[in-house]
Amino acid sequence: MLKQEGDAVEMLLTGFAPALVNAIRRTIINNVYTIAIDDVTIYKNTSSMYDEVLASRLGLLPIKTLSSLNKGEKSFTFKLKETGPKAVHASDLICEDEDVKPVYGDMLIINLREGEAIELEAKAVFGNGQDHTKFTPAHVFYHFYPVIDIKKGEVKGAQKIASLCPVDILDGNGNKLTVKKGKLPECILCKACEDYAGSDVIKISSDTDRIVMNVESWNQLETKEILKEAISALETEVKEIAKKV
Ligand code: SF4
Repeated sequence: MLKQEGDAVEMLLTGFAPALVNAIRRTIINNVYTIAIDDVTIYKNTSSMYDEVLASRLGLLPIKTLSSLNKGEKSFTFKLKETGPKAVHASDLICEDEDVKPVYGDMLIINLREGEAIELEAKAVFGNGQDHTKFTPAHVFYHFYPVIDIKKGEVKGAQKIASLCPVDILDGNGNKLTVKKGKLPECILCKACEDYAGSDVIKISSDTDRIVMNVESWNQLETKEILKEAISALETEVKEIAKKV
C-alpha cells in the first residue's frame, strides 16, 4: 500500500504481468456487483424535469451495497414523494430495507419550485458494469513505476523545470533539481520536464517489473471489498476457461 486517502488507494504491485493487472482492472469495471436504481415508476411529476431525465439521475446515484446482502434477483424499492418549494436530495429517498440507502445523501436530485410535486417508486437491483456503467464500483488505473534520473551537479533553470510538473513532485531550489521525498510514485510519466530540459538533464523511464495501481471507489463498496470481489470473479472465470480448454 503506497497511499490511502479516503476512498482512494494506491498500491505497488511487484512481479505482476501488466496483462494480469489489466485483467483485474477490467474485472473491477465489469464484473463486480453493486446495487443501482434500474426501474422507476413515476406517479406524478409536475416539475420542469422530464420523467426520463429524473429517472436517469436516480439511476446514477451510488447506492451503498453491503457485502452481507445476497446478490441475485432481490430488488429494493425506494419511495419519493415531495412537494415544492424544496431541494430534493438523495437522502429523501426512503427504502423499505433500511440498510440500503444512497451513499451521498446530499446529492441533489431536483429543485422543486412552489406548487411542483413528484411522486415515484424506484426499484434498485444488483448489476455489474457489463449491464450498465452505473454499477461500476470504482475508477481504476495503473502505470509502471517511474524512474527519474537527474543530472548530477548544477541544473540550470531548476525552478522552471520543477514548475512544469503537473503533479508537483519536483523541487527546484536554486540550481538543484530533486524529487520531493516520497513523491516518486506519483510521477505520471508525462515527460513534460524531460521535453523542456532535455534527457541529458532529466530522464524519465519506467520500471516494467513494478506497477502502481490506483483504485478510487465510488463508495457503494469499500476498496478492499472491490478488490476481493474482483479477484474472486477473475478466479471463477479462469476456472471456467480451464474447464473448457
Ligand atoms: S514526467 Fe511529468 S510527472 Fe514525472 S516528474 Fe516529469 S513532469 Fe513530473
